[in-house]
Amino acid sequence: MSESEIEKELSSYLNVYRVSLDTAKRSIVKKHGGNPAGLAVGISKTIRELVPGEQSVNLLVRIVAVNEKDVTVESGTKRILYGILGDPSATIPFTAWEPLNLPLARGDVIRVQNAYTKEYRGQVQVNFGVRTVVSKERPDALPEYKPSAGGGMPYVGKPTAMKVVDLREGASNVAVTARLLSVETREVEVEGAKKSVYSGILADETGKTQFSAWKDFGLAEDDVLRIEGAYVKAWRGIPQISFDDRATVTKLKDDALPPASKVGESPRMWIEDLAERGGGVDVTVRGILIDLREGSGLVYRCPECNRVLRKNACRIHGEVKGNADLRVKAVLDDGSGALTAVFNRELTEALLDKTMEAAIAQAKEAMSADVVRDELSDLLVAQPIEARGNVTSDDYGLMMIVDTAKLLRVDVQTEAREMLEAMEGSA
Ligand SMILES: [Zn+2]
Repeated sequence: MSESEIEKELSSYLNVYRVSLDTAKRSIVKKHGGNPAGLAVGISKTIRELVPGEQSVNLLVRIVAVNEKDVTVESGTKRILYGILGDPSATIPFTAWEPLNLPLARGDVIRVQNAYTKEYRGQVQVNFGVRTVVSKERPDALPEYKPSAGGGMPYVGKPTAMKVVDLREGASNVAVTARLLSVETREVEVEGAKKSVYSGILADETGKTQFSAWKDFGLAEDDVLRIEGAYVKAWRGIPQISFDDRATVTKLKDDALPPASKVGESPRMWIEDLAERGGGVDVTVRGILIDLREGSGLVYRCPECNRVLRKNACRIHGEVKGNADLRVKAVLDDGSGALTAVFNRELTEALLDKTMEAAIAQAKEAMSADVVRDELSDLLVAQPIEARGNVTSDDYGLMMIVDTAKLLRVDVQTEAREMLEAMEGSA
């Protein structure tokens, strides 16, 4: 690709779709078959967040242990370093396959750029390769490592009090006061052993979040809780709060927070803030539908995998007889940013004020499904709308799975009269 083409594309992402620069870069790299993970320099992770197969990992860690050994390689023998790295979230084994630019000693705090991860004997490992840069930091850049009996490393110092709206992926040793809106128990397998996880939704005055509790804290619906020593991870594209045996959970008086009917309301949010936050649970956005994306209208799905068919063929299962579905994928812009809003069949039928069967009949008569898409486009593009639902975040930007939506019929005359009355009233 030429430089000017990339420039043009970048400009349309930034100015038309108004995504962040980071999202735009990642989307373009991905679209042209590259790996956006290679771009993610400057984003530091905690050890607990690491998964195998990451290509460019940045860490701030303490050397918990370090040793040297000779290994046999194709060209003879080679001296490598291996040991254990730690941060307040966990510890992890590491190997340095290339000579480093500085000596490492136990207790050193180092910043690592461009390391990579692999799975070794069922455990995630950090590797330092040719591209990896290691630099020394002041010892107080990271709390002292203290080994614990099990689980993650214990938190050092007092937890940081946060509101739900401020929870960000990677935060640890967090304290929140929230009301439990729902809780359910699931069985999961962790390292071969069955474990109960308690998950659901909790909320404060600023918003809602999903949670996972890895220990039985006796959680009950509608309790007002003070949770200290929690951490935040992204789950299915939305930050969620987690807590385990390092956390303390205290039940507070019921009047410590407004009732469930109040904290359970969907907060109105700006798309810019949702992008910065990395998604949100049950939020409300007001904006204008500026475009319909490809795949809106009458679509046919693969009966095997539910993927939307292109030219009667599934990407995986080839030519199949698809099941009809009706949906809208629209670009919703609120002036601060844009997201893709997905409306399911039920909502689309309501917007069209016709059933899917009627839409199919209409498409048959016109001998093209484009009529349905065109009708939706006429109906929706340039319309102000209020949409409520979960917003997820990934390399392509933000996506809202719309639960409820209403077209806002802006009554210009009424608004103007109200504005005048308000001005007269204040004069
Ligand atoms: Zn399929």
